[in-house]
Amino acid sequence: MKRPDGIKTDMEMKKCSWFRSGGRSRYFSRPKSITEMIDVIRWARTESHEISLLGLGANMLFPDEDFDGLVLQTTMLKSNENFQFFNECEIDVSAGVQLERLVNSLNSQGLAGLEKLVGIPGTIGGSVWGNAGAGHGSISERVVAVQCIDSNCELRWISADEFEWSYRYSGIGDHIICAVRFRVEPNSDPVKLQEISRDLKEYKESVQPYEQKSTGCIFRNPESGPGAGQLIEIAGLKGLTVGGARISELHGNFIVNEFDATTADVLELVHTIEEKIFSQTGIRLDREVILACQEKSR
Ligand SMILES: Cc1cc2nc3c(=O)[nH]c(=O)nc-3n(C[C@H](O)[C@H](O)[C@H](O)COP(=O)(O)OP(=O)(O)OC[C@H]3O[C@@H](n4cnc5c(N)ncnc54)[C@H](O)[C@@H]3O)c2cc1C
Repeated sequence: MKRPDGIKTDMEMKKCSWFRSGGRSRYFSRPKSITEMIDVIRWARTESHEISLLGLGANMLFPDEDFDGLVLQTTMLKSNENFQFFNECEIDVSAGVQLERLVNSLNSQGLAGLEKLVGIPGTIGGSVWGNAGAGHGSISERVVAVQCIDSNCELRWISADEFEWSYRYSGIGDHIICAVRFRVEPNSDPVKLQEISRDLKEYKESVQPYEQKSTGCIFRNPESGPGAGQLIEIAGLKGLTVGGARISELHGNFIVNEFDATTADVLELVHTIEEKIFSQTGIRLDREVILACQEKSR
């Protein structure tokens, strides 16, 4: 099958993740429409190329080794307006729209519901796939349905009830998200919504290394007791460095890229944290950050 136009080769994945590490990808595509995306997926599947799906890369690390498959980035799957009304209380949003841009648009139009989801860099696709959120709730609370490309390359809307949502988990698995329908509350006060978002964002920026190249949260928080960041702090691991990677002094659950860090540097730090926390507390931390290209092929 002829390779669709627009697929690049030998792409440096360092340029594509928030942490800025990783090797090269044999093929790379950033489709501008769902039709284009389906063509690329059909081609990759026909040619038996493994597909690794990428949003903004804010929760993903690429291995330092080159990847012999296709990285499919969704950031161009968006329209000029960040959303379209499905009805008065439901909106459709393309997978490539950035969560924060969506929240800003909704706030300014007095549409409530997502205003607390700020300070989370990422696309709608990546954020729904990982059920992003914080102490005040998760994005799944607002999801009505998800438009996906399934394993047969069929595009269909799937009701949110069909997925098993839990903390930082959607159950969407190897489906590829193209758009998401959210429930919103119209006729809310834009000024109030903007204030809520601004205050939360300011708080997050003061406790997380938002301006640095980082992994996002490395571990999920344990079900009870101190959060992962607190456990790392109590263990005295903040500031620990391997190569160019350092456990953030600001928040123990983030690793920052000080200079030219490799993914191997991060993984060594992650391993050290896991061993130390287990030996001190008996708690096995569960990794939240995703090592790309090692998941089941899509
Ligand atoms: C400074 C900082 C602060 C953060 N704070 C938070 C926080 O408060 N709460 C929180 O939950 N997270 C937080 N994160 C993590 C990150 O912002 C979220 O996980 C975000 O939702 C990731 O979106 P993304 O588009 O970057 O996904 P990526 O990192 O690109 O991908 C994440 C996963 O989603 C899959 N994926 C991506 N797009 C699609 C799609 N269209 N269809 C199917 N699968 C897809 C990928 O294959 C991968 O498995 C933070 C990260 C940083 C760097």
